[in-house]
Amino acid sequence: MSFSSLVSDLAFRDNKPNDQASRASRPSARSTAGSYARSYASTAATSVSISGDISSQLHGGYSHPLTRSWQAERQLTKSMLIYPLFISDQVEEETLIPSLPNQHRRGINKLIPHLEPLVRKGLRSVILFGVPIAQNVKDTLGSAADDPQGPVIQSIRLLRARFPSLFIVADVCLCEYTSHGHCGILRDDGSLNNSLSVDRISDVAMAYAEAGAHCVAPSDMNDGRIRAIKLKLIEAGTAHKVVLMSYSAKFSGCLYGPFRDAAGSCPSFGDRKCYQLPPGGRGLARRAIHRDIQEGADIIMVKPASSYLDIISDAKDIGKDMPVAAYQVSGEFAMIHAAAAAGVFDIKTMAFESTEGILRAGATIVVSYFTPQFLDWLSS
Ligand SMILES: [Zn+2]
Repeated sequence: MSFSSLVSDLAFRDNKPNDQASRASRPSARSTAGSYARSYASTAATSVSISGDISSQLHGGYSHPLTRSWQAERQLTKSMLIYPLFISDQVEEETLIPSLPNQHRRGINKLIPHLEPLVRKGLRSVILFGVPIAQNVKDTLGSAADDPQGPVIQSIRLLRARFPSLFIVADVCLCEYTSHGHCGILRDDGSLNNSLSVDRISDVAMAYAEAGAHCVAPSDMNDGRIRAIKLKLIEAGTAHKVVLMSYSAKFSGCLYGPFRDAAGSCPSFGDRKCYQLPPGGRGLARRAIHRDIQEGADIIMVKPASSYLDIISDAKDIGKDMPVAAYQVSGEFAMIHAAAAAGVFDIKTMAFESTEGILRAGATIVVSYFTPQFLDWLSS
C-alpha cells in the first residue's frame, strides 16, 4: 500500500459514522462534552501526524528497554574497563585518598585481597601507577621508576602470577619519581631535555615490559617516545607481545588534582604546559594522534574524557583501524561524586551517562575509577 492511499484510507475510516474509531470517540451516557472533545482532538492529532512525513515517527523504535540499548553503536561491557591502581612502596599501606572518593593508595601486601573479589566479578584490566613514599627515593632522573624492588615492577610480577587472566597495563612516566615532579629529565635552566627524557622513559617502559606488563602506556608526552619504545621492543624481540598504548592527546588543565594527591606527582615548580596540550588545541591533538600512530602506537588514548569528546571522536576518525581509549580522570570522577552528594543527580545514572557519552564519541576502552561499581552494575 502506498503512503498516499494509507493516508486516504485512514481519513475514510475516521469519517465513517459507525466504525470502531468513531464509536470509541463517541461520548457514552456517562461521558461529558469535555471528554468527547479530548477524544476528538486526539484523533485529529493522529491524522495530522500521519499525513505528515512518516519518518517523523521514531518512538516505536526505542520504546522497550532492549530496543533503547540497541540504539547505541557500542554498549559498555566489563572488558572495556581499565581500573587505575595507586601502588605505594609501603607494603602495608592502605590509605584513602581524600580528594578521590573511595580510592586508596595501597601497598603490595594489600593488593591481592583488594583485587580478588573484583577479578571474581569480571575485572579484566588494571593500570598501575607507582607511588614512592619513602624518604630520599626521588632524584632528578626518576631512578626509582624502574627499580626492580619498586612497587610497579613488584606488582606486575605478583599480579601476573596470581591473576593469569588479568591484563596488566603499566603507566610509564617519571613525574612520580623525580625530585622536581616533572615528566622527564630537565636541563640546568629547568626546561625539559626531550632526547634524554625519551631515552630514560623508553628504558622504564622496557623494564615494565620485561617484568611482564601486557601493555606499556607512556603518559609523559615527550616528543618521539612512542617510536623509541617501539624500536626497543623490536630490538628486544618482544614487540609481538607487548601493547603500546600512547597517551597521545593528554591535555593540561585542572582535572588532575586528586590524582596528584594520590600519586604525589605535583611539579615542585612550573607546570606541564610545555608538554601537555592546551585545552583548545584540537588541531594539535590531531597532529599528535597522527604522529603516534605513525610511530607505532597500538592504542591511542585521550585524556581527560568528558570535556574532550570531540578529540575522542577525532581519534576514532584518524585511527579508524585501531582501538581508542579514554581516561575519565580523577577530577571528572570527583566532580560526579560531589554533584551526586549535593543531590544534583543519582551517581549510578551519571556514571553510566558519562561513560556512554565517552563510548558514543568513539572510545572502546575506558580507564575508569568507577570500574569496581560497574562490575556490580553490569552484573545486575
Ligand atoms: Zn608524568
